[in-house]
Amino acid sequence: VHVTEPSVDQVRIGVMGGTFDPIHNGHLLAAEEARCNFNLREVIFVPSGHPPHKDVRRISSPEDRFRMVSLAVGGNRFFRVSRIEMDSPGPHHTVDTIGNLIKQYGPRVSFYFITGIDSVLQIMSWKSPLRLAEVCRLVAVSRPGYNLDRIRDLPEEVRASVRVLEIPLMAISSTDIRNRVREGRSVRYLVPDPVHRYLLERGLYRC
Ligand code: ATP
Ligand code: MG
Repeated sequence: VHVTEPSVDQVRIGVMGGTFDPIHNGHLLAAEEARCNFNLREVIFVPSGHPPHKDVRRISSPEDRFRMVSLAVGGNRFFRVSRIEMDSPGPHHTVDTIGNLIKQYGPRVSFYFITGIDSVLQIMSWKSPLRLAEVCRLVAVSRPGYNLDRIRDLPEEVRASVRVLEIPLMAISSTDIRNRVREGRSVRYLVPDPVHRYLLERGLYRC
C-alpha cells in the first residue's frame, strides 16, 4: 500500500474539540479517519471547559469528561488528551484554543480541526470564523442527518479551508447516550468499554 508522507518540514496535527459528555465511538471514528486521511502525526482531543453554546443544560464536570476521554483514547498511540481548555477560565473559543496550540507547537505544525458537519455548518456563529479558517484547516466529517453539500452555503473564505471527509456514518450522539442511560437502556458498543464502566460506576446521566 502506498502512503503519502507529510512533507519533512511541515507536521500535521489534528485537534478534536468537543463537550464529550460522554465521548463515544462516533468521535473516535471521526478522529481516526481524519488521522489516516490527512496523515496526521497525532490527534489531540480537547474537552471543552465551559462550552459557550451549551450552558443551558447541566454538563458533567470537566474532570469526569476528561477521565472518559482519557479512558477512550488510551488504546490508540496516536491519540492524546489536552487540558488546555479545562484548566483555564472560560468561555473558550476554538479560534483562541487553536491560537494557543500554534504558540505552543510553533510554526512547523499545521493544525487540522476535526468537526462533524453539523458543527461546521454552525461556524458563522462562532468567534472570528474567518480567522479560524485562516489559522487551521477545518475537517468536516459526515454525520447522519446532515448534508455535506450545505458546505456550499458557507462564505468562500471559510470554504477554502474546509476539507470534507466522508466516514462510515454512525448515528451516535452524546445526547442519545445520556437519554439511554437515564432510561436504563444499554449504551454498550456505543461507547468504549472502559467509558461504559466509568459512567455506570460514577452514576452519570442517571437523572
Ligand atoms: P451532543 O449530543 O451533546 O451535542 P455530540 O454527540 O454532538 O454530543 P459533541 O461533543 O457535541 O458530541 O461533538 C464533538 C464533535 O464531534 C463535533 O464536531 C461533532 O460534530 C462531532 N461528532 C459527534 N458525534 C459524531 C458522529 N456520530 N459522527 C461524526 N461526528 C460526530
Ligand atoms: Mg454536538
